[in-house]
Amino acid sequence: MLNIEEALKEILDYATLLAPVTLPLDEAAGLVLAENVAARGNVPPFANSAMDGFAVLAADIQQASESTPVCLHILEDVPAGSVATQPVRHGTAIRIMTGAPLPDGADTVVHVEVTRAEGSDVIIVLALKNGVNVRQMGEDMKDGTIVLTAGTVLRPSEVGVCAAAGYATVTVHPHVRVAILTTGRELVDAGEVPGPGQIRDANAHSLRAQVAAMGAEPVVFARVADTRAAVRSALEQALTQADVILTNGGVSVGDYDFVKDVLQEMGAALVFWRVKQKPGKPMAFWTLGSKRIIGLPGNPVSCMVCTEEYVRPLVRRMMGQTLLHRPVRTAILDERYSKGVDAGRTHFVRVRLQEREGVFHAALTGPQGSGILTSMALATGIAVIPEDTLFVEAGQNVHVQLTNLPEDH
Ligand code: AMP
Ligand code: MG
Repeated sequence: MLNIEEALKEILDYATLLAPVTLPLDEAAGLVLAENVAARGNVPPFANSAMDGFAVLAADIQQASESTPVCLHILEDVPAGSVATQPVRHGTAIRIMTGAPLPDGADTVVHVEVTRAEGSDVIIVLALKNGVNVRQMGEDMKDGTIVLTAGTVLRPSEVGVCAAAGYATVTVHPHVRVAILTTGRELVDAGEVPGPGQIRDANAHSLRAQVAAMGAEPVVFARVADTRAAVRSALEQALTQADVILTNGGVSVGDYDFVKDVLQEMGAALVFWRVKQKPGKPMAFWTLGSKRIIGLPGNPVSCMVCTEEYVRPLVRRMMGQTLLHRPVRTAILDERYSKGVDAGRTHFVRVRLQEREGVFHAALTGPQGSGILTSMALATGIAVIPEDTLFVEAGQNVHVQLTNLPEDH
């Protein structure tokens, strides 16, 4: 049986980048660039005013002050989007709005707050240095220079840079499509009242939300009936519609062979089954051509933890992301944690992290059973208790993954 590091390594070894696609810019937010972005033209394309005020020659206002105001003749008005029809000459000014092109001749803009218009004249009461309140042509981006390199994540700021640089479409690594196949005859929809022996299907929903949160595209299938034919048909469909397939439930000892047999029939190669971890021991991983298939355990906490620990890094790497792991902090565990009979496995313990006097403290989120979904909801981190540690005393240090924060390594 693999340990957690070995299992993650196997999975990441199969994390092949999806081929780049060209998408409309707005659909590419959050994705990773597969090309360099070079400015198509200067940004800004022309020198323009950073303020509402008056375009002048700095030389004309060097003596301006409250006691020695300078009077200039206003030639015309230039709003943003217009161009002055004449140059500014000594003794004159052009009224200019923010973003309007600086008229020929002018080198400086006097902001309106230090001026007084008097008919067709303007009185200026402050001396400004040459170039003040002027945005120079190309000061943000010079024509042809690379402003973003391949591999950059398109955050909102990078999306804005692409647009300003002249890119209505960009070439990126696409969203990984992740199929979600849920099994289990005991399951009913969230809106239903469970009958005898039934429970509501939580995993279809938590999985969809986790997949969306990792920036991938969830493809949720209707719950799969417990027949060989139904499982086969759902898997076949999923393989045509998705890059990664998550099966959920039915991978523990009892019914595992069923899913395994169907996948084997279909030519999938089992990379591993079972990991020395709690929760999530029955997890399985297959490949079939370029498709990656993860068998997630049905217990709701196991399902979520395995998705966090393995599916998320896999999907991120396939999308070209290089930061795959959540920030890890050392924290003091505030109560004793014992593995009991489950020694020899890494435990993922749900905790709530608090900073007190500069020190992180981790408190368990209550009972840690793999069916206690509220233990996930209360958590802000996952404490990783190593394979060979039998127990952690209250006051001892643990390493905690900060699952609410973006990956940093
Ligand atoms: P399994 O892995 O199918 O043997 O399921 C293990 C446990 O998880 C059982 O108690 C199931 O009832 C429960 N379970 C399986 N699938 C789901 C689901 N989609 N939502 C909530 N609980 C589930
Ligand atoms: Mg089941």
